[in-house]
Amino acid sequence: SLFKSGGGTGFVGGALTQLLRNRGHEVKHVSRHPGKDRITWDDLSRVGLPPCDGAVNLAGENVLNPLRRWDESFCRDVVASRVETTKTLAKAIAEAEWPPRAWVIVTGVGYYRPSPTAEYTEESPGGDFDFFSCLVKDWEAAAKVPGDATRQVVVRSGVVLGREGGAIAQMLWPFRLGLGGPISSGCQPFPWIHVGDLAGIVSHALEQEGVHGVLNGVAPAAPTTTNGDFARALGSVLNRPALLPVPGFVVRAVFGPERATMLLEGQRVVPKRTQESGYRYSFPDLPTALQNILD
Ligand code: NDP
Repeated sequence: SLFKSGGGTGFVGGALTQLLRNRGHEVKHVSRHPGKDRITWDDLSRVGLPPCDGAVNLAGENVLNPLRRWDESFCRDVVASRVETTKTLAKAIAEAEWPPRAWVIVTGVGYYRPSPTAEYTEESPGGDFDFFSCLVKDWEAAAKVPGDATRQVVVRSGVVLGREGGAIAQMLWPFRLGLGGPISSGCQPFPWIHVGDLAGIVSHALEQEGVHGVLNGVAPAAPTTTNGDFARALGSVLNRPALLPVPGFVVRAVFGPERATMLLEGQRVVPKRTQESGYRYSFPDLPTALQNILD
């Protein structure tokens, strides 16, 4: 089968591309930059979606880029790189002569209100209380395609753990130097997933005809993992202490208050529909996931 992926050049996109190619599929990317096995977003708007079996959107300006200040222009980029690219792909799917059988986007668990106690399944309410939750609501709404020629799936992802990018790539050096530790009290929930499982869930959603609607993209152990558990597990795999907490005010100073909530608070997210859909995790618990990433 042939799949098209927006943002396929990134961290999650790289893992998904490799997985799909290993499974014998052909993959092409939609990118801002032209190149081999790619079309650009402009090409997509101009000439429409070439025939393919599935489409995925993984595009998005990196929210936790510490080099970019949280200002109006950054906010605009964060929103447009997700909502506008999703609209462009959805429109191309709706207008395609041979629409793909499946269309998958990856959004975030920021949809659910952070809480130390509440547990969220895919049916739980959200999407209406702060910048990120409203972004996820608009992003998921932008993906809607009328009719039922194309099966639609939304994967609400937690913090993606992998060697090639994301949170661990940013934290590895402080931890290696023994300067890592929990963020603030470390008691906040840490909704995480191994990048191999996020790619696995997207691939499962593309291939399995019965899968539709929202799937939480977190590990089965995520609802009981705190930020402190994560810091201790990472320190232990690296054979370094992880005792130095990063104070909340430092996180707020570096990232600004909006983004700081993502690190200082968290959600206990349960992958209920994901497991009911028959997806089998490769990295269900944190030691297995971290061992694999850091070996
Ligand atoms: P990356 O930071 O690796 O970026 C993915 C791709 O997005 C890039 O390769 C790039 O493709 C495209 N992109 C970047 N900036 C822009 C922009 N301003 N406009 C248009 N396209 C842009 O992301 P990840 O792989 O980590 O994440 C993939 C998706 O999953 C994102 O939407 C993200 O929000 C979501 N997600 C990720 C989490 C994580 O922990 N990593 C957690 C929850 C959700 P190109 O250069 O080819 O145009």
